[in-house]
Amino acid sequence: MKFEPVIGLEVHAQLLTRSKLFCGCSTQFGAPPNANTCPVCLGLPGALPVVNREAVAMAVKASLALGCHVNPVSIFARKNYFYPDLPKGYQISQFDRPVGEHGTVRIFSGERNETGKIVNRTEKAFGITRLHMEDDAGKSVHEGLPETSSKSYVNLNRTGTPLVEIVSDPDFRSSQEAYDYLVHLRKTLLYIGVCDGNMEEGSLRCDANVSVRPAGQEKLGVKVEIKNLNSFRFLQHALDYEIARQIRVLEEGGHISQETRLWDEAEGRTFVMRSKEEAHDYRYFPEPDLLPLKLSPEWIAGIEAGLPELPGAKMNRFVAEYGLSADDALLLTSSAASADYYEECAKASGNPKASANWIMGDLAFVLKNAGKDMEDCPIPAADVAELIRTIDSGKISGKIAKTVFEEMARSGEKPGAIISRMGLEQVSDEASLGAAIDKIIAASPKQLAEYRSGKTKVISYFVGQVMKETRGQANPQVVNDLLQKKLAG
Ligand SMILES: [Zn+2]
Repeated sequence: MKFEPVIGLEVHAQLLTRSKLFCGCSTQFGAPPNANTCPVCLGLPGALPVVNREAVAMAVKASLALGCHVNPVSIFARKNYFYPDLPKGYQISQFDRPVGEHGTVRIFSGERNETGKIVNRTEKAFGITRLHMEDDAGKSVHEGLPETSSKSYVNLNRTGTPLVEIVSDPDFRSSQEAYDYLVHLRKTLLYIGVCDGNMEEGSLRCDANVSVRPAGQEKLGVKVEIKNLNSFRFLQHALDYEIARQIRVLEEGGHISQETRLWDEAEGRTFVMRSKEEAHDYRYFPEPDLLPLKLSPEWIAGIEAGLPELPGAKMNRFVAEYGLSADDALLLTSSAASADYYEECAKASGNPKASANWIMGDLAFVLKNAGKDMEDCPIPAADVAELIRTIDSGKISGKIAKTVFEEMARSGEKPGAIISRMGLEQVSDEASLGAAIDKIIAASPKQLAEYRSGKTKVISYFVGQVMKETRGQANPQVVNDLLQKKLAG
């Protein structure tokens, strides 16, 4: 029997506000333990929460960017559970009336072939069930092994930091689709500037719900939740493992139990964290200390009007405006910085295709080696554009351009300065090229005889020799024309 996986993702994104969701404490990462706390986020009796307007604006922005309907009235709710790093004994979240609902994202998603390459990318639509706001818990820090003498500390700096939880519909049918969705989600949040997307620092955290069902069956299988998938790689590995595990259990006649599992990357498997019986009953109820959150249509419209061009729209525009392939456009719009860099280069060079090739090829290589992102690219887009114009004008060859580019990356000089300093200009002058050609012909009687006996393919030997003689600076077209004349006698 063939099985089909059904996957949904729940993503927590930390909002980039300077202060917490319900108090004025700083959200700065890396402050001394418990420095960023006050009676509100410490959960002291009598302290009352006040909603951070900027956090609401960011949640609305994210909702709109993900195609969600923004509810004009949403309700904060208490989510009750005990945890040492949750001093209130509850999180303030949203339950039946979240800020955003019923969204759709259109993503250019493909499948992985046996070699790991992504192929057959097409546009697919995935649903977003809801986007709600909540405050984060603190952090427990453990020292030593639990079996021996050990200590645990509680750091409440993160307590009360604003989060949005974005819940997808169970629309993904492969780990690759879930992966592509998470990439898109992260990219969108970065484009609109509401989250830094840093998965290692926990600004973006992902849980996945996975089930499998016989292909063609409508009814969903029993789902398993995998928690804390804090990298793209872990998400894909965990999903692939879990899908295979569930199929194996069913094929052996077993049953899947509803449970929460964790991914162990070192061991390459998921393991049970808690079963359904141990699951929390959060006893949600409306937060009595906060009024319903009412948003005026004008305020929402203002936020919508301020949205930047979103990744999907930008990608489609790059295809239409610059004649790029969808794959290239997807890559070049992977960040706003990369897209801006490309556009500047394409416009200034007048050669969109060459701009794409240089940025995705040589420039990407330089950045990768330097461990840098496009945000701190050492070569200005205007310089790459100048290099392209220099090639297109015939001043240097494409081959020499590689040398110039390496030098640009090393020294930071402008291409024009490098070409003059190193004397790299292309030689198109017939007199000097003619002399070089005569020299080569004179030194190659055997090849000359071959050419004249009709083996005209041997011309490539002569071209190679002339290029060598001129250190790659000869204009290949001029060399070719001259050679044909001279070889014919
Ligand atoms: Zn506080």
